[in-house]
Amino acid sequence: MSQNTPKTVPGLACPTCRKPVVHEHRPFCSKRCADIDLSRWLGGRFVIPGGSLDEADDSRGDLGDGAAGPRRDPSRGTD
Ligand SMILES: [Zn+2]
Repeated sequence: MSQNTPKTVPGLACPTCRKPVVHEHRPFCSKRCADIDLSRWLGGRFVIPGGSLDEADDSRGDLGDGAAGPRRDPSRGTD
């Protein structure tokens, strides 16, 4: 009669909702959470650390005068 209770994995939390992981759906607590996690990846909502966005932004700085030298503080007045 205790067949109703899903078998959880001790020490593991579902990455989607932080509930105890169910052995049958490892590493998630349910099929639903597994689907949510998968759709996040497919939807591109997952931000991968160390992306190449910074590099793309860097090439833009070449056109500016920022690399010419130290910036002057406008409040310092004229020279
Ligand atoms: Zn979950």
